[in-house]
Amino acid sequence: MKTVTFKDKTFRVSISEAELLKAVDNVAEKMNADLEGKNPLFLIVLNGAFMFASDLLKRVEIPAQLSFVKVASYSGTASTGRVTELIGLNEEVKGRTIVIIEDIVDSGRTMYGMVEKLKSLGADDIRIATLFFKPEALKYDLNIDYAAMNIPNDFIVGYGLDYDGYGRNLRDIYTLINS
Ligand code: 5GP
Ligand code: MG
Repeated sequence: MKTVTFKDKTFRVSISEAELLKAVDNVAEKMNADLEGKNPLFLIVLNGAFMFASDLLKRVEIPAQLSFVKVASYSGTASTGRVTELIGLNEEVKGRTIVIIEDIVDSGRTMYGMVEKLKSLGADDIRIATLFFKPEALKYDLNIDYAAMNIPNDFIVGYGLDYDGYGRNLRDIYTLINS
């Protein structure tokens, strides 16, 4: 069995590059049909989504713009609750179709905050495209428009996703071995 070890943790291979690319193909096909004529702005969430975005967007054939953002989330004042900041967003989103490209939706907190932020900036249609979705972990009211793969509630690395910065460059997905 193929395994990798980073620091104190060992992971075994669980999803091959070929399976990933098949799932990415399906999402691209859906986007090409759904987003025709909508002039979407794809917002790629760094760092984790870089590999997914690269493979996905090569397969998207409609006119579109791309931008790369980082999400910062912190607790504001009692009245503002949690505050989400989009670092690197220089494009006007008012009135536009926005497609968020994310690596994985777990509790959904990151995406919920990002959607609220984009709504407050006047985006017209906000969609979420995620490579992985853990349905059992979801705690926020979120609509996931494009989920390439649903996965169980395990910790994974590879294909952009990291453990303490390691593993992002792996071409396959590896799952943490419980020990
Ligand atoms: P959420 O805000 O949905 O709870 O969590 C989303 C973020 O947590 C993801 O963008 C990712 O950075 C991290 N995350 C959640 N599950 C995993 C996982 O299985 N592996 C890795 N590497 N990161 C994860
Ligand atoms: Mg992420």
